[in-house]
Amino acid sequence: MGQTVFIPRELDANEPRVAASPDTVKRLAGLGFDVTVEAGAGTASRIPDEEFAKAGAAIGKAGDVAKADVVLKVRRPGEAELKAYRPGTAVIAIMDPYGNDAGVAALASAGVTAFSMEFMPRITRAQSMDVLSSQANLAGYQAVIDAASEYDRALPMMMTAAGTVPAAKVFIMGVGVAGLQAIATARRLGAVVTATDVRPAAKEQVASLGAKFLAIEDEEFKAAETAGGYAKEMSKEYQAKQAALTAEHIAKQDIVITTALIPGRPAPKLVSAAMVASMKPGSVIVDLAVERGGNVEGAASDQVVTTANGVKIVGHLNVPGRVAASASLLYARNLFAFVETLVDKATKTLAINRDDELVKATMLTDGGQVVHPAFAGKPAMMIASSEHARPAAAKKPAAPKKPAAARKPKTSGGIA
Ligand code: NAD
Repeated sequence: MGQTVFIPRELDANEPRVAASPDTVKRLAGLGFDVTVEAGAGTASRIPDEEFAKAGAAIGKAGDVAKADVVLKVRRPGEAELKAYRPGTAVIAIMDPYGNDAGVAALASAGVTAFSMEFMPRITRAQSMDVLSSQANLAGYQAVIDAASEYDRALPMMMTAAGTVPAAKVFIMGVGVAGLQAIATARRLGAVVTATDVRPAAKEQVASLGAKFLAIEDEEFKAAETAGGYAKEMSKEYQAKQAALTAEHIAKQDIVITTALIPGRPAPKLVSAAMVASMKPGSVIVDLAVERGGNVEGAASDQVVTTANGVKIVGHLNVPGRVAASASLLYARNLFAFVETLVDKATKTLAINRDDELVKATMLTDGGQVVHPAFAGKPAMMIASSEHARPAAAKKPAAPKKPAAARKPKTSGGIA
């Protein structure tokens, strides 16, 4: 009998994704693992137990985690869940450790070897393991779909015998992975797309997707990209110039999608209440940065706010989870690609090389200790300044815990 990989059902009611697919179950079996999937783990991602079983998995129960050598998850297991885990088990998930000291301590106390997938270095070798990219890509796509469904007009230009419907104007603010996919999706739907970013590299990428780039291209802009490819926090002066430029533009837009993030900082505020007030009734803003404090004044976590002038501000949480069936397939492949590097192909057993740069970058706890350098014995302030302090590094508003049934966005009479 081989070692066992266990895939639990996610307990968080706001998490419809699952950490394996029938495809990765087959691949894990190919590596020599026995795979057990908890009954119902794939239901919210449209993967029935039978599909996992056909791929070679045993369908088990939550308690089977006690027999696992490797546990694949979407979210960090909580203290109660960890009680059933065996010390030494490798647990791989999006651990969201920043600001969650108790959760990290619980992983260490349980004695598990926990890996935080969001810390995967963005190097060529690890591209197939980049969960931030795979999930942000889908979030960018879904942001446009959400905007289109809130926007009660057509997006493409339509020339008919009864007259012409003009194309919707869509403005994307922040063109990293999510923003680029949002541009591509909006273009496919026939919108006229413009985009902005503070990194010069974005200019060519925007143009290559057939959108128009709009930015203050001064000396500060030329130096805005860090060695890691991320954006710096811009000066107050730059922010004021950027706001003046975008204010005029936003007033003419039908849809604005914001995705701007700065590692280790709260999301930059790009759209003020005055800008929102300048938009036409029925315009839509989607704030993908809402989990990190939001780019848009008046955006609210997990709500669709309608302003006094009839603009809708969409602030869905866990946007990749809104396309869970697609997001799970990619996430599962990201995890498999990482697991493959942890296995000795000759003996077909887990052989974690603690000197491997991918292991060093992602390992959070091991042998009862917190081992990640950003956490082991360092004060919280230092953690927040790390470039790898990505999604959860900045203070984020507490995500309301709601049952799955309550995930449907609420409409409220938000900002004036
Ligand atoms: P991110 O999620 O950190 O930020 C999203 C975007 O917001 C970025 O493009 C950023 O420049 C922009 N932004 C920040 N402040 C802004 C402001 N004030 N105004 C306007 N825009 C602002 O970014 P990401 O999607 O993770 O991508 C970051 C970089 O990493 C990009 O250069 C991307 O191409 C690169 N990347 C590399 C790899 C790889 O090499 N494997 C994989 C994915 C992404």
